[in-house]
Amino acid sequence: MDKTIEKIVSLCKRRGFIFQSSEIYGGFGAVYDYGPLGTELKNNISQLWWREMTRVHENIVGLDSGILMHPRVWEASGHVSEFHDPLVDCKQCKARYRADELVANIEDADWNQVKCSKCGTTGKMTSPRQFNLMFETHVGPVEESSSVAYLRPETAQGIYVNYQLVQGAMRMKIPFGIAQIGKAFRNEIVARNFIFRTREFEQMEMQYFVKPDSDNDAMKEWKEKRFRFYPDSLGIVENKVRFHEHGPDELAHYAKEAWDIEYEFPFGWAEIEGVHNRNDFDLVRHEEFSGKNLKYFDQQTNERFLPYIIETSAGLNRMLLAVLADAYWEDKENNRTVMKFHPQLAPMKAVVCPLVKKDGLPEKARNIVDFLKPHFSVLYDQQGSIGKRYYRQDEAGTPFGITVDHQTIEDDTVTLRYRDTQHQDRVSTDKLLTAIQDNMA
Ligand code: ATP
Repeated sequence: MDKTIEKIVSLCKRRGFIFQSSEIYGGFGAVYDYGPLGTELKNNISQLWWREMTRVHENIVGLDSGILMHPRVWEASGHVSEFHDPLVDCKQCKARYRADELVANIEDADWNQVKCSKCGTTGKMTSPRQFNLMFETHVGPVEESSSVAYLRPETAQGIYVNYQLVQGAMRMKIPFGIAQIGKAFRNEIVARNFIFRTREFEQMEMQYFVKPDSDNDAMKEWKEKRFRFYPDSLGIVENKVRFHEHGPDELAHYAKEAWDIEYEFPFGWAEIEGVHNRNDFDLVRHEEFSGKNLKYFDQQTNERFLPYIIETSAGLNRMLLAVLADAYWEDKENNRTVMKFHPQLAPMKAVVCPLVKKDGLPEKARNIVDFLKPHFSVLYDQQGSIGKRYYRQDEAGTPFGITVDHQTIEDDTVTLRYRDTQHQDRVSTDKLLTAIQDNMA
């Protein structure tokens, strides 16, 4: 198969997108570090999301709440009592599994019949044990139970506990939304598939506060909007995304209705984003646990009520993995690998190459870099043959290649090469910026 996760992992390391955490110490499980190109790509994706989810909507504003929160928040949210995964171990080889990934129905399963897919032994599985996914830490110098705090397992709760402050400060009227991008932590039992499931990750969430009787309409609206984001904004091939509705057995404790947006990764269809109708579950619980009145006052109708909440919750890292997988292309005809990122997402927009390292070409190429760099990310490269330089940038997904040659000195024109087609145009330097910008959309 052309697109395998192994090939993507290897390209990501080679080109500086993603590295295993603490690699010189043998790696640290299910945590990854983003290299120079990965950081640019991740920022481009999150900025696109931010623009789509806040700036173009007058009624959606942003928030950046703390990773550490009052521990009662997680009692109210249900995470202390509900956020468990069932865990089983193979007594033979010590392999660890999430029980629900091995059998369809955990309660009815006969664990003496279950086979370990690692060592092949049957009947050596332990019974499932519940394992809380939250990371615990202690605040202050003494490790005692009263100082326990959690690294947040989702960003949503930061929005709920601040919702009234945001609404009051910004004079928001229902329906309105609050968006947040930030780190979340889950002590996942089985972390696999590269950055798909990690213990530290970033969420991009928007919580939309609506009147209790308009939740179904809002759900419909946001389902549609979030789905369109993938082909329309990220440029992902349309038939690679689909919806999956949660049946009654899959619904989380807070949800009235839940849909996953799934992408067809090289390892199969899997969730990138959830769109959930959380009704008033969270605000009811926070009223109860904090003792504060969290009702919204509707000035038009003089009514007080707890809003219903529609949540759109995406994982930035999973979205990035989908973008990487979608962009990966082995151009067999030309014996090269190309990351066909949408130009808006590409970490580097252009590379400028002097054909040779003499005759004034490097200086001319540097001038072009200086001229372009206020507009977008651009790179100078004079190392190796021109073909090698281009192929390196094809793997990095750089959409435009500019070559300065001897003719440039004579008539101030350069060649402009397009990554996917390898077509080249001769462009005069005063038209270069417009030529690139025209091809960026
Ligand atoms: P899963 O069933 O895959 O564990 P989930 O249903 O628990 O995911 P949510 O709680 O709905 O996920 O979180 C919203 C989004 O956060 C997910 O769609 C996913 O993109 C992202 N996410 C959740 N857990 C992880 C993780 N361990 N690593 C990376 N991203 C994650």
